[in-house]
Amino acid sequence: MVSYDAFRAKLEEKLSQGMGEKLLKSRVFRHLFKKVFSWQADFQLKTTEEMTNFALDITAKSLKEGEPTVWTSAFFPDEIAYAAGMTPFSPEIASGVMAAFGQAEKMLKEAESIGFSPETCSFHRCAGGMDINDYLPEPAMILASTHLCDGAPQLLKILASRHRVDFNVLDVPAGRSQKAEEYLTRQIEEAFSSCEKITGRKISQNDIEKSFAASNRAREKWLEVCELRKKFPPVLTSPAALSFVYLNFLGYGNPRTADIFSLLVDELKKKLEDRFDLNHPGKVRGNKENPYLLWLHLRPYFSREMFDYIQGRAEIVYEEMNHLFWPPLDPDEPFKSLARKILSHPGLGPIDNRVEAIKEMIEDYQIDGVVHFSHWGCRQSAGGTYQLKDSLKKMGVPFLDLQGDCVDPGGFSTGQIRTRMESFLEMLESRYQAVN
Ligand code: SF4
Repeated sequence: MVSYDAFRAKLEEKLSQGMGEKLLKSRVFRHLFKKVFSWQADFQLKTTEEMTNFALDITAKSLKEGEPTVWTSAFFPDEIAYAAGMTPFSPEIASGVMAAFGQAEKMLKEAESIGFSPETCSFHRCAGGMDINDYLPEPAMILASTHLCDGAPQLLKILASRHRVDFNVLDVPAGRSQKAEEYLTRQIEEAFSSCEKITGRKISQNDIEKSFAASNRAREKWLEVCELRKKFPPVLTSPAALSFVYLNFLGYGNPRTADIFSLLVDELKKKLEDRFDLNHPGKVRGNKENPYLLWLHLRPYFSREMFDYIQGRAEIVYEEMNHLFWPPLDPDEPFKSLARKILSHPGLGPIDNRVEAIKEMIEDYQIDGVVHFSHWGCRQSAGGTYQLKDSLKKMGVPFLDLQGDCVDPGGFSTGQIRTRMESFLEMLESRYQAVN
């Protein structure tokens, strides 16, 4: 019998030989992908398998000839793509997957060799390298938004001209004023029209209702997941929970997302029922065995080593990237409603919005310490660490800023991260023991 490690090595070898598309369609690959996904997530629930199937199906669909595939940037509202009957594809997520397969370094080098600056975010450089290698599906058009990430529109504009397809960008203002909402609403209406122009099909009120109903149902289910995560003991922690960022980025507007979240709700309830009373208040500090952590921004996808240091000493009970921040969508005011969704992101505008959201998360999840993974080149997340640290200090919440890279193993110093993590955990443990 071939070991799992040998399977994974073989898969990486095949991918490095440029067999991306063929592999994706093979059953063996699907099986291996699930294995790798589970290894990354370390999460033995049926939900993980369902999410992996969804990821594979939607990626395979985007690769199918004649399928109108639209590339979207990470924070773009994909309800538009689903309403238009298009398949969204995220080059940034593809970079994370490439890193998980140990293939990012090669892509990064190739992107840099043709002029992508090593000073920029590796999610974008890696996507550029993947595009040169024809790993990505052919786009019918590309949609991006400027909010939070200013690297994405730059990259996607280059790739749109490379593929000679339409590029539509939402210029998102930083404020939440009525003027900002109106300005964005008009652009969203134009984005709908651009999709219609590409597909040659009118987006009906029924299409919008279906996409919004799927999004709202997923929203409700994810909020239920979040409520269950507040209970004792924590039944969903990271790194497993961080894998749901995938659906929180690309799944809203697709009916399968709500089904997957619904299954997750059932599985988490079962976990709680099997071991504890669901009505247990879970608010008593003495119930906790280890300090609780809040994780800010993303994680390195090529390694789970840093989570191994944490295991058994602290629990990552919530993640900023899984935070649901927007009101339900209204199909009777589709453009305005999506504008409101975008403008309600806590990372938009002054840092105070992000700080306020983090304070709420700290209270809701009984957080003892906050870890910020500062990904190289990401101004929207790393740019605010000073103010975050300062605000959390005033609240008496310890803060650790870990600097590294989510995609590029060369931008990650294991020794340094281990040392900083170790002293942070020691400090947290002694504080925690002193008050319990
Ligand atoms: S890590 Fe930051 S810069 Fe990179 S894609 Fe995400 S938001 Fe953009």
